[in-house]
Amino acid sequence: MQFDYDDQNIFAKILRGEIPNATVFENEHALAFNDIEPQAPVHVLIIPKGAYVSIDDFAANASAAEQAGFFAAVAAVCEATDVEKGFRAVANTRAHGVQDVPHFHMHIMGGRVLGRMLPDRA
Ligand code: AMP
Repeated sequence: MQFDYDDQNIFAKILRGEIPNATVFENEHALAFNDIEPQAPVHVLIIPKGAYVSIDDFAANASAAEQAGFFAAVAAVCEATDVEKGFRAVANTRAHGVQDVPHFHMHIMGGRVLGRMLPDRA
């Protein structure tokens, strides 16, 4: 599959320092910051610093170092936030997944019981 990256997306602008963010954790390959419209007491977005549009682009094309750095950030976010009782990790993808920002991001949401996934079964 062909993945075309738009470098004008809002997370690319955050990575370039053009838009501020509330950073939770950062390493060489990933940045984690609070979602601007939190849907749970903990709602952090983790993004790779590389130009990947979606989780399947990242899984297929990111280097082993980038993938390790990304998941090190996932571990650090889970350690740094109040999700000991559990959380949900979500990567909305393209149109059917209702992805708004075309730069791969993983939502980490927790701090309360979240309810079942996919209430809309249409
Ligand atoms: P998605 O629908 O999975 O693409 O989610 C995009 C997420 O990015 C939403 O939860 C937004 O609230 C969040 N978001 C958009 N702009 C910003 C921003 N400038 N800083 C932090 N989060 C943002």
